Amino acid sequence: MAGRIAIDAAVVEKPGAPFQIERLEIDPPGPGQVLVRIRACGICHTDMVMRDGDLPIPFPVVLGHEGAGIVEAVGQDVVHVAPGDSVLLSFHSCGVCPACHAHQPGYCTDFVSRNFLGVSQPGEGGLWRGNDPVGGNIFGQSAFATHALAHRDNVVKVDADLPLALLAPLGCGIQTGAGTVLETLKVAPGESIAILGAGAVGLSAVMAAVIAGAGRIAVLDRHLHRLDLARQLGATDTADETAYLVGPFDHIVDTTGVLALLEPAVALLARRGTLALVAAYPPGTAGLDASAIMSMGRRIVGVIEGGIDPQQFIPRLIDYYRQGRLPIEKILGVYDFVDIDQAFTDSQNGSTIKAVISFS
Ligand SMILES: [Zn+2]
Ligand SMILES: [Zn+2]
Repeated sequence: MAGRIAIDAAVVEKPGAPFQIERLEIDPPGPGQVLVRIRACGICHTDMVMRDGDLPIPFPVVLGHEGAGIVEAVGQDVVHVAPGDSVLLSFHSCGVCPACHAHQPGYCTDFVSRNFLGVSQPGEGGLWRGNDPVGGNIFGQSAFATHALAHRDNVVKVDADLPLALLAPLGCGIQTGAGTVLETLKVAPGESIAILGAGAVGLSAVMAAVIAGAGRIAVLDRHLHRLDLARQLGATDTADETAYLVGPFDHIVDTTGVLALLEPAVALLARRGTLALVAAYPPGTAGLDASAIMSMGRRIVGVIEGGIDPQQFIPRLIDYYRQGRLPIEKILGVYDFVDIDQAFTDSQNGSTIKAVISFS
């Protein structure tokens, strides 16, 4: 295809500003890029952090990094998808560093620049307001828009019969929770696990713990309605305060980002147990007792995006979904594109666990 086309995009003009849906132009796909007509895009916690300017992204900006849609056109060197294919979008990586070669693109040396900062490579297309560039390429997609330019590595082809609005969040929040349990921790049948925080990532970890055949699945959250949902999804124990969690646990997943929870979490680990750090953490230290970690053979591991390769893991999640073992519809709220601000408000106050924007 030749030339730019007009799109509607939700633009954030400056840090903390509301979304404004406006007409922009998008370039045709450059080498390695894929132009996708967006059908749906989930809202993730990181979108709120970026909207509020807590990461140095280029404003004005188009956010959105759980896109799903139909391929419109592909650039040079893209062979795994073709126009008309249904696709889910995930995070972006360089494809050539040691982590990418090891199918661990979440630890790509370029992760921060290609995802949080939306830095483009030479020759790639972008977004325009007249002659002025608009910040795009966030997580290699910027999918709060009718069209997005994604990349060879972060476009995952899926079957045409799948409900894209339901599956859009697989590309970040759901794969993060499920990947942590199934791939990073490799929870085995009968093992115990505690999940701190019952948001989208934490509840996805609960669903994955059930898939893994975990024995005890304990969930901690301050909100009782989220604990009810956790129990519906298979949690065996719930608690609204750390003091009510009864250890020891073979695995603990922290999705809260609350530093003060980490030392009590370590104390709840079994011998040779592992604490996975999955949340966005504020700067600072957690005051951990080194001797209590060393003497019991405990481990602490940081996890980005579940520690998975989306090209391999998203198809596996779709299999679980088809088998009825990943009931993500229970945590979803779908909003029209024009209601994107409401969707953010509901996500922030916790009344919707995973909001998805639908483009009809
Ligand atoms: Zn995300
Ligand atoms: Zn890389």
